[in-house]
Amino acid sequence: MSLLIGNNLVVSMHYKLTDDDGNVLDGSKDEPLAYLHGAGNIIPGLEKALVGKVAGDNLQVRVEPAEGYGEVKPELVQTIDKSAFQGVSAIEAGMTFEAQGSNGAAQRIEVKKVEGDAVTIDANHPLAGVSLNFDLKIVEVREATKEELAHGHTH
Ligand code: ZN
Repeated sequence: MSLLIGNNLVVSMHYKLTDDDGNVLDGSKDEPLAYLHGAGNIIPGLEKALVGKVAGDNLQVRVEPAEGYGEVKPELVQTIDKSAFQGVSAIEAGMTFEAQGSNGAAQRIEVKKVEGDAVTIDANHPLAGVSLNFDLKIVEVREATKEELAHGHTH
């Protein structure tokens, strides 16, 4: 009997992610993506859509921002002084930096605009506010090992 996708199972799948204009944003390469179901390894909307599916299934899933990478938060766009970027010789729009967020996690910051010493930065996730269209092919569903469950991710 095929395992139905649910908590504490490891799912391997090939995926392709496109936006509403058909641009490919991400996807699996040669190896399928593996994740531990129920551990928050993937975005909530995708995890929900996979419940009850089995190896061999193909599906298309649309995930709105609220169940994906969230809405764009205006408060995450700030203008700061150039002097905050010590050791960086030329700040230009489009550059990205890793910073420590308030919760301790790494946060990606993109430079949006530079006007004199005023640098406008955006700490929103690059996919915030984007509706996500996934093309999925489920390759394998298996029981997680004790170690994987303890760690909350696949090995
Ligand atoms: Zn581990």
